[in-house]
Amino acid sequence: MAFLKQLTDHIRAHYGVSDDSVIPLHAPQFGSQERSAVLDTIDSTFVSSVGRYVDFFERQLADHCQRPAAVATVNGTAALHTALLIAGVEAGDLVLTQALTFVATCNAIRYCQADPVFIDVERESLGMSATALAEWLAEQALIDDHGICRQRESGRPIRACVPMHTYGHPCDMDALQSVCQQWRILLLEDAAEALGSSYRGRPCGGLAPLAAFSFNGNKVITCGGGGMVLGDTEQMRQAKHLTTTAKQPHAYEFVHDQVAYNYRLPNLNAALGHAQMRHLPRFLADKRATAEAYQQLLSDSPYQFIAEPSYGKSNYWLNTVLCRDLSARDALLSGCQQAGIQARPVWRPMHQLAMYQQQAHGDLSQTEWLAQRLVNLPSSVRAGVATDDD
Ligand SMILES: *Cc1c(COP(=O)(O)O)cnc(C)c1O
Repeated sequence: MAFLKQLTDHIRAHYGVSDDSVIPLHAPQFGSQERSAVLDTIDSTFVSSVGRYVDFFERQLADHCQRPAAVATVNGTAALHTALLIAGVEAGDLVLTQALTFVATCNAIRYCQADPVFIDVERESLGMSATALAEWLAEQALIDDHGICRQRESGRPIRACVPMHTYGHPCDMDALQSVCQQWRILLLEDAAEALGSSYRGRPCGGLAPLAAFSFNGNKVITCGGGGMVLGDTEQMRQAKHLTTTAKQPHAYEFVHDQVAYNYRLPNLNAALGHAQMRHLPRFLADKRATAEAYQQLLSDSPYQFIAEPSYGKSNYWLNTVLCRDLSARDALLSGCQQAGIQARPVWRPMHQLAMYQQQAHGDLSQTEWLAQRLVNLPSSVRAGVATDDD
């Protein structure tokens, strides 16, 4: 308990908050560039589906991830849904993902009328375990005469695999990719939390044929709400069509060639994202400093700081500690609550949610062990970091 006071004092001092106002888990930071970009859309009246900021923002993300193209969407869930559709996920398919994720990953799979299959995570990265993936496939899957991976018992196609970089810590993508290649399963990244993270020197969001980001208000950078799909040029041409009501280009006629979605990101939001993106290197440096300070403080404590895996760099979106057990976790959560500090447990694992209880899954012992012990601590970029013009 003595350490709890040390921790909450550290957090107040780190964020320079001397009064008793609540310290949020993750709040956005804006500078003058955000203000002028957003005002520019208002002054020009191009706040909606026409305007140059969407193109700018898409180019920034594609370049950052070293991918050929990107398509902006209204939110990260829409980006995931679009990526899955482009991957060819259809009604009745199975899609492998983690039980330890935010619910949007599974919802996007269900929007395709496919079903998620839950695979365990690794303790080190909190991301999908390639070993657990390989074990489930060896037990359950076959490759048919047409080269399609299917669940043996049901015959259902196992179309795709969607690992998620939990809290910004990169998954072991080479290991996952080699299992997916062996079983002819397409790999997609849910990179919603991992903008600025990297794996063996390569940026997250550029590690699989298709990837999705979120720019919700609590992410590393924000558009207010927004998302992005990344892929090759032809895939992103399809993604643009699918996210813009499948309207055929014409000077004035309205011809739509399939049932599609209104998932496009408004120019107003893209302006905010474009300005935020220019702060990314500074945001990442500040978040790393916050993580290092936590790591140092926690080295001699009852909590274990979750450091980035040895093979990559984390953006340290949310700093996370591992508690001894469930009661230690609850004591930390309520202690922080009483001290006016927002701390949060990890998501309820997907296989324990009412609508996903019936889905297939492998052994989930790591997921269940972690779910009782993980706590996120305040991780915002500090005030002032976004104000310098660059
Ligand atoms: C935030 C998040 C999403 C979805 O993002 P929205 O923009 O809120 O729709 C998807 N997956 C993960 C893992 C996330 O953290």
